[in-house]
Amino acid sequence: MSDQTRKYHQYLNQGELWLQYCLNCKKYIFYPRSHCPVCWQSELEWRKSQGKGRVYSYSIIYAQSMTDHEVPYIYSLVTLEEGVRLATHIVECDPKEVYVDMPVEMAIRKIGEQLMPVFKPAAPV
Ligand SMILES: [Zn+2]
Repeated sequence: MSDQTRKYHQYLNQGELWLQYCLNCKKYIFYPRSHCPVCWQSELEWRKSQGKGRVYSYSIIYAQSMTDHEVPYIYSLVTLEEGVRLATHIVECDPKEVYVDMPVEMAIRKIGEQLMPVFKPAAPV
C-alpha cells in the first residue's frame, strides 16, 4: 500500500473523504497517487471533500459477488462537486428510484473488508 493510499484510508477511518488537489492544474484527483496524472507534478495537497455529488451512471447488480454484498445493490459512478468521478455504491435507495443526475451525499460503509465511500440520496434542501 502506498503512503497516499494509507493516508486516504486513515481519513476514511475518521469518517471523512479527502481528495488530492494538484496545485499546478488546480484540479482534484482521485484515486490517491504520488503524481498528478495530467501534469506529472508531485505538488499535491490533501483537501477534504464536501461529500456531495450526482449520479453519473449506474447499474443494478443482482448477482452475489465475492464481496458477499447484499443484492440487489446499486453500483454507480458518482461525480463529486469537486469534479472527480468515483466508482461506488448507492445505499439507502430503492433500485427503482435511482436516476442519472440524482443528487447524493457521502456515507462511509464497510464493503467486504474495507471502508469505502458510498452515497445515499441527498436530503431535500
Ligand atoms: Zn497536475
